[in-house]
Amino acid sequence: MHAWVVEAPAPIDAGPLRRVERQLPEPAPGQVRARVACCGVCRTDLHLAEGDLSPRRPAVTPGHEVVGTVDALGDGASRFAVGERIGVAWLGRTDGTCRYCRRGDENLCVSPLFTGWDLDGGYADACLVDERFAYRLPDALADEQAAPLLCAGIIGYRALRCADVPPGGRLGIYGFGGSAHLTAQVALAQGMRVHVFTRGEKNRALAAELGVDSVGGAADLSPEPLDGAILFAPAGELVPVALRAMDRGATLAVADIWLSAIPGLDYAAELFEERRLRSVTANTRRDGEEFLRLAERLGVRATTVAYPMAEAPRALADLAHGRFGGAAVLTN
Ligand SMILES: [Zn+2]
Ligand SMILES: [Zn+2]
Repeated sequence: MHAWVVEAPAPIDAGPLRRVERQLPEPAPGQVRARVACCGVCRTDLHLAEGDLSPRRPAVTPGHEVVGTVDALGDGASRFAVGERIGVAWLGRTDGTCRYCRRGDENLCVSPLFTGWDLDGGYADACLVDERFAYRLPDALADEQAAPLLCAGIIGYRALRCADVPPGGRLGIYGFGGSAHLTAQVALAQGMRVHVFTRGEKNRALAAELGVDSVGGAADLSPEPLDGAILFAPAGELVPVALRAMDRGATLAVADIWLSAIPGLDYAAELFEERRLRSVTANTRRDGEEFLRLAERLGVRATTVAYPMAEAPRALADLAHGRFGGAAVLTN
């Protein structure tokens, strides 16, 4: 089969991805193999290719928003039938025994395996997944529609909960790409007022199209104090900007896996009055199940741009340079 691998991380325009020929992998006990129909492109893939995230394995295949069809079962795998459509997401495996797993916070597991970082992901013809970590997908969603929900959607949903905005409250969204455009739809459907701050023209247009309450530049002043905010842009310099826009007691949730340096904070203006700054780290399977149900019920629609799987580097370069709005999806 064909698979893309990250050989030596480098700026995306220098071509860190290489397409290789590999044996079709055989599922181990408890695993299933998915024939990849399509795979969403997440900013994490870009961080991995460029080396912001250190590779955890040489020549790993990126991709953790995989929609595919089960075509082989490992010993003991019984949750899915051959021919069934499944989703493969970022959380590939947890130990199930550490103190965080036992208290229900498996997103904080001390020895997790992530798809497309520790485990080969979906920038390929096929990939393996532990069946306990795969998702059933709502029938109503086409493959290309479903893919971005699997990381962008799920992480955004967790971030929205972490931002802890009360019903009808005011949410700020800093950075507006694949994850934010899905999260904004959930927030609007839940009656929040949504203010978007982003620099890309295409992303600004997409936010306006979705009917958010205001759209401004990345570091613009908020039209009103915020009851909570999510930072999606991997830009640490926006942390104090967002904190200054927060109302008393409000939370800023940072949804990124990697963030550039955060400048020194002014305690009085940016943190005092119980403003909170927190990160969002991966997700639990429960977050995933909840979000997929909610997305179906609320009719969350991903805006996607399709690229042939053979053009994965171009999709990542376009993401790096902000050349599209919404989410890119690689199709086989
Ligand atoms: Zn654990
Ligand atoms: Zn992701």
